[in-house]
Amino acid sequence: MAAYRCKVLVIGGGPGGYVAGIRAGQLGLDTILVEAARVGGTCLNVGCIPSKALIHVAEQFEAAHRFTSDNALGISVSSPKLDLPKAMAWKDGVVGKLTGGVAGLLRKAKVRVIEGTATFKDGKTVEVAKADGESDTITAESIIIATGSESVELPFLPFSEDVISSTGALALETVPEKLCVVGGGYIGLELGIAYSKMGSAVTIVEMADRVLPLYDAELTGPVTKRLDELGITVLTGAKVTGAKGGSVEVVDASGATRHITADKVLVTVGRRPFTKGLGLENLALDMDRAFIKIDDRCRTSMRGIYAIGDVTGEPMLAHRAMAQGELVANVIAGQNDSWDKRCIPAICFTDPEIVSAGLQPEEAKKAGFETIVANFPFRANGRAMTMEREDGFIRIVARKDNHLVLGIQAVGAGISEMAAGFGLAIEMGACLEDIAGTIHSHPTRGEALQEAALKALGHALHM
Ligand code: FAD
Repeated sequence: MAAYRCKVLVIGGGPGGYVAGIRAGQLGLDTILVEAARVGGTCLNVGCIPSKALIHVAEQFEAAHRFTSDNALGISVSSPKLDLPKAMAWKDGVVGKLTGGVAGLLRKAKVRVIEGTATFKDGKTVEVAKADGESDTITAESIIIATGSESVELPFLPFSEDVISSTGALALETVPEKLCVVGGGYIGLELGIAYSKMGSAVTIVEMADRVLPLYDAELTGPVTKRLDELGITVLTGAKVTGAKGGSVEVVDASGATRHITADKVLVTVGRRPFTKGLGLENLALDMDRAFIKIDDRCRTSMRGIYAIGDVTGEPMLAHRAMAQGELVANVIAGQNDSWDKRCIPAICFTDPEIVSAGLQPEEAKKAGFETIVANFPFRANGRAMTMEREDGFIRIVARKDNHLVLGIQAVGAGISEMAAGFGLAIEMGACLEDIAGTIHSHPTRGEALQEAALKALGHALHM
């Protein structure tokens, strides 16, 4: 049993924890990071990265398939085949490169990484249970909790070989003939669409009256249309009540009970904070339901204990966790830093993709703003035409009185790459005139942003 002392202890090596560790190391703070599984956390190992890799495989396969029949581009391909284990191995390779890179960055920042599960003994001391049965004790001046989240399991649909979470869906060896996705949020839709493109007959069951209920109907419209084109069955207002022998029992919107046959049932009904085994019972932290309550400097209610990322609440997104990771290290180093972000952009990597930065029109109204809302469709954008993707639009929400941009949303193929620009405009306090007056390169789909701003000002040029 080894005993360590350090200035900063980070528990959890996901995007929140590893960024906090790197930044603390850069600031010269003696830092230890404890990780129970693999550095990179959910995001790099079983979340953002592997899901986007699988989506890429599915997109390539669908594109190849399209060329097996007559098409406007004059390309012909004969019977493309998918070797899923090979694709999964490629995906694992991408994950391995990134997690290896993170381990290297931690080393470069002189962060000591200890593999094991950390449990609080008191507000300054943590015991780490290691795989070899040994345990270490670490005493630290400041402790950052970055233990992330886990998939919610339905009591009447426990995870098994055939009832899988997103983690299971990212490691299948064969494409299921029939896949039932329970939960129409972004994770369920991203994976459901990917498997549909790889050949599964997909049914999505969602309790709300439409999929992706966090976004307004105008934004989700093009995605709903695409789900239909892909032949995905969507049951909204419907509730899964159980599963037996390859069949899922659903009470549909009319109250009728239906049975959906499926080789695999993918349950994506949400994620909850992960604090199992952490020994929170040995502390006296203020909680917000199951989340750890923090202030705008990521401080918990106990002096010297901080928390960041998914374990602190919504939105559970990797870039929020990373921003908090950097902030908390600055705070511990004594810098006068605090959370004053205007927006945390959110993206659904569906087909088409959805981006939302800042306030959607209804949210702006509820916040008491009088607004101008304008959208510019990709069907009037040259670059979108050259890419054969005229579906979707970019929309701007601005204050009526001073034209301050409150929100920018978009739906379109590959539109996620524009999210950073939308966020920058809002963080910088851009007005409609700033966006309208910025020269946007031609031909790009970004021109639709400039045109939306011009339209909001009353004079779109290409519509
Ligand atoms: P995590 O990444 O969950 O990391 C926590 C780490 O703590 C884990 O490695 C865990 O092993 C470790 N740990 C837990 N308890 C202990 C303990 N007691 N001792 C030691 N270590 C411990 N977000 C996006 O922004 N974009 C996306 O495209 C996106 N796609 C996603 C797709 C899927 C399928 C999933 C599941 C999630 C996705 N997310 C996405 C969400 C994103 O993964 C999380 O928001 C992010 O990983 C949260 O980071 P974190 O550092 O808070 O926690």
